[in-house]
Amino acid sequence: MTNDLQNRLENIKQKIQRSASDCARDPKQITLIAVSKTYPTSDIQTLFECGQQHFGENYVQEWLQKLENLRHLPIQWHFIGPIQSNKIKHIASNAYWVHSVNSLKTAQKLSQHRPATLPDLNICIQINISGETSKQGIRPEDTLHLCGEIQKLPHLNLRGLMCIAQETTDQKILTEQFTQMQSLLHQLQTPYPCMDTLSMGMSSDLELAIAHGATHVRVGSAIFGIRKPKNS
Ligand SMILES: *Cc1c(COP(=O)(O)O)cnc(C)c1O
Repeated sequence: MTNDLQNRLENIKQKIQRSASDCARDPKQITLIAVSKTYPTSDIQTLFECGQQHFGENYVQEWLQKLENLRHLPIQWHFIGPIQSNKIKHIASNAYWVHSVNSLKTAQKLSQHRPATLPDLNICIQINISGETSKQGIRPEDTLHLCGEIQKLPHLNLRGLMCIAQETTDQKILTEQFTQMQSLLHQLQTPYPCMDTLSMGMSSDLELAIAHGATHVRVGSAIFGIRKPKNS
């Protein structure tokens, strides 16, 4: 079991290295986030012992339970799930990054609840790049305005954009969406040079995301194995 996890982690790391060198990028510019939602604390512990430091979680309740048992480890937690306003306090006080900010109200509450004793919270704005109604995120054309507002808030560090590309194997559609993300970030970097992050690419599309400038890939099932469906 431990070996399987370790092997899959190594495979993904190699994949990232290959994808980076294929497009002449430095693999050090790409951070692997192991997305541990629905997987047990023991798997996180095992991967941490193999050198993995960045983990992503989606569900606050589940995450808090895991945190209880992992407090002793210096894990860097990325919150990547939908943000409910009654859970914001927990997110603001335990996350190192939040990738799924999609409104000013959410950003304001994160700012308000971020403990001043902690470093500023790194923020990505989630973009609904596929335009599917089922998807979280804001429209690309609304991003510039939201960036301006978030920039004014204390205790937050506006870092970039996040997306979940359409669930398809059609490389043309994926390429189009990742290209749009890349050019959107590029446009925003003129007024907001602090934005240096593109959080995109998952188990099935990380190579293409890296080819289009991804700096953070969020990989779950390709490391942990098939995820059981969650009913909440
Ligand atoms: C679950 C999830 C992932 C990981 O997905 P896999 O396909 O298992 O790699 C990445 N990002 C977000 C936002 C997720 O919810």
